[in-house]
Amino acid sequence: MAGFYGSKKENKLGMRCSDTACLTLDNVRVPASHLIGKEGEGFIQALQILDGGRISIAALSVGLAQGAFEAALKYSVERVQFGKRLADMQAIQFKLARMSMEIDAARMLTYKAAWMRDNGMQFGVAASIAKLYSSEVAVRTSEEAIQIHGGYGYVKDYPVEKYWRDSKLLTIGEGTSEVQKIVITRNLLAELT
Ligand SMILES: Cc1cc2nc3c(=O)[nH]c(=O)nc-3n(C[C@H](O)[C@H](O)[C@H](O)COP(=O)(O)OP(=O)(O)OC[C@H]3O[C@@H](n4cnc5c(N)ncnc54)[C@H](O)[C@@H]3O)c2cc1C
Repeated sequence: MAGFYGSKKENKLGMRCSDTACLTLDNVRVPASHLIGKEGEGFIQALQILDGGRISIAALSVGLAQGAFEAALKYSVERVQFGKRLADMQAIQFKLARMSMEIDAARMLTYKAAWMRDNGMQFGVAASIAKLYSSEVAVRTSEEAIQIHGGYGYVKDYPVEKYWRDSKLLTIGEGTSEVQKIVITRNLLAELT
């Protein structure tokens, strides 16, 4: 369409396999036949799409965290330092235990939100909780995965630095962590009245 074009491609920290660019609409005329949904309900539709999208971001977060965890677990049994495997050091065991526990909790919250949606229930708050928790678990887990790899975690020979860079977007896209907290608390307060 005349006036619609892609412009600057963003140079991103992570998620580099997915291009992000500005879409410019300059005096674009859109015919009525292109209307999606009902007139005047666009904002509500956008919010509904966000609710569903938050479950997707939660699932993406769980998968990313699981990948980072598995890489760290594998490395911890391969790397021998000061005469023993990393996995035999209690400080590393504590990290692995926390990572595993948090991923499990994130997965359950994500399944819960998806189950509520599948069963026609109000799932907005459950989606926000799943998205908030899972995305922050993805950031924490991938950061710990780098720590367990030591210096190798910081170089591109191993996958964990990528997990970390990719994870950060999950706390921003589809509503930031702060916005999820606003949604959750707004619901808590509404239940009081
Ligand atoms: C590569 C990329 C892809 C993206 N893809 C998507 C996507 O597909 N879908 C999607 O929905 N979003 C996506 N996003 C996120 C979206 O584009 C915005 O970045 C996001 O909604 C935050 O808005 P903002 O950047 O204007 O930040 P701002 O609104 O300026 O916020 C800046 C900071 O202030 C905080 N803040 C803002 N308002 C409040 C408030 N009222 N109370 C407390 N804290 C507040 C924010 O949480 C944040 O920490 C993507 C972002 C990037 C970088």
